[in-house]
Amino acid sequence: MLQINITLLEYLNNEKKNTHVKIAIIGSGIAGVCIARALARLDKFSFDGQISETQDNFFHKVENITIFEKANSLDEALKKSASGNPIGIIHPIISKRSFATEWTEQGIFTTIKWVKELNLGSQFYDFCGVLHLPRNKEQSLDWKKLENYQSTKSELLTKENLLKEFKYLKSEVNAMWSSHCGWISPKEFVKAAIIETKQNLGKRFKMIFNSNLQLQQLKEYKFIDQKYSLKSFDSVVIATGFGSPNLINQKTLKKREQDKRFQKNDINEQGLTSNKPFLELVNGQMTGIQIDCSNTINIKSVICKSGYLTPVINGFIYSGASYETVKKPHDFTNVKNRTENIKRLSNLICPKYFKTDFETQLTFDRVSTRCVSKDKLPIVGLIMGGNQKIYALTALGSRGLSWGPLAAENLAKEILLDGRIKKSIISKHILPSRFKI
Ligand SMILES: Cc1cc2nc3c(=O)[nH]c(=O)nc-3n(C[C@H](O)[C@H](O)[C@H](O)COP(=O)(O)OP(=O)(O)OC[C@H]3O[C@@H](n4cnc5c(N)ncnc54)[C@H](O)[C@@H]3O)c2cc1C
Repeated sequence: MLQINITLLEYLNNEKKNTHVKIAIIGSGIAGVCIARALARLDKFSFDGQISETQDNFFHKVENITIFEKANSLDEALKKSASGNPIGIIHPIISKRSFATEWTEQGIFTTIKWVKELNLGSQFYDFCGVLHLPRNKEQSLDWKKLENYQSTKSELLTKENLLKEFKYLKSEVNAMWSSHCGWISPKEFVKAAIIETKQNLGKRFKMIFNSNLQLQQLKEYKFIDQKYSLKSFDSVVIATGFGSPNLINQKTLKKREQDKRFQKNDINEQGLTSNKPFLELVNGQMTGIQIDCSNTINIKSVICKSGYLTPVINGFIYSGASYETVKKPHDFTNVKNRTENIKRLSNLICPKYFKTDFETQLTFDRVSTRCVSKDKLPIVGLIMGGNQKIYALTALGSRGLSWGPLAAENLAKEILLDGRIKKSIISKHILPSRFKI
């Protein structure tokens, strides 16, 4: 598609047609905060940005953005949600080329850009590289056929080279090295994005706490507290993470046609036809293990093998995370998951390189809940049209940090740009309509 810079003149012409939109966002986790930031930046910087074709398109301006959050403060919200985890990894999907692998790569570069723009303190992230170890011998051999993975920005480390560079590892396997990836503190990322959004929008940005929105209210577009009637918003974005199955529900929302761009093959390929519900809740437990740095090796990068192990971050190595489907979110820790997380250290690292008995170290656990879709891709886009529109930005699964910013940039354009190009902004693979919602 033709890429054209929007000139100031075009912008001013468009400005005449502008309408001002009021946007409600439900949820203040990574998803909610990313869409708020993306909308605020698009509103502020759209005239010097690049978009595909300009004819017949015009910008809506943001009149105001209000985030509604059910917890009674941001800190309380982050205490309970996955977005409040102390660390999260950004890493590519090491798999054959597909929409998911390419979109994740694009997402990672968007997130890295955001981290820099947000001036996140250096203690809150480190793109120290991520080393992927294969699950088994077959995968190790398969990774050697690098041509299958050409679209990833990661490189193959043969088993000979692996042990030269990572002496402390136990296994002699072919590995994948993603030098551009690493870890981020999701909690600090969320806080920094809110600060910037406040700066960009001033009084046009509000966060309202103690607002546990129910499906019926959403359908009727109203809140019990009429002061904040949803009727006064042009667009509502559901970004409720672990609360999403209550609000986005095939039975209660009007059924929609699948996007016309979907082919029969797309549907089979992605397993959309299985009997599983299209949204699931999946609990995860991560463990922080206190480490005396003088007494152990210095793991320099994140290591991933059926979970992850971080370098020492503020005195702790983080190991995670379990993956258990649950009916309702809960935060009960369990010993089995802790043991597995601690064992990840001794399973991956040669014992001679650490003097500490990790099982007696001070540890802490944190359990939170992911929202995962049936095809393991996010759900981003319109779920109810009309004068007042309802959008979804959810099902970020285990990759909220890699997917949130890119999904938000796409959705912000969908909400604020009007005209001919609208259809092509969000990929059919992540549209809600693939699940007929
Ligand atoms: C154990 C674990 C480890 C993970 N590790 C990684 C990782 O290494 N890298 C990575 O990228 N991702 C990781 N993730 C995933 C990542 O944390 C999530 O994808 C991300 O936090 C999801 O953000 P969210 O905003 O969609 O949802 P959430 O974090 O669930 O936030 C939803 C918010 O909406 C609010 N809310 C819910 N319902 C309502 C309602 N009805 N009305 C008003 N407000 C409501 C909630 O209170 C909450 O504040 C991990 C997740 C888990 C559980």
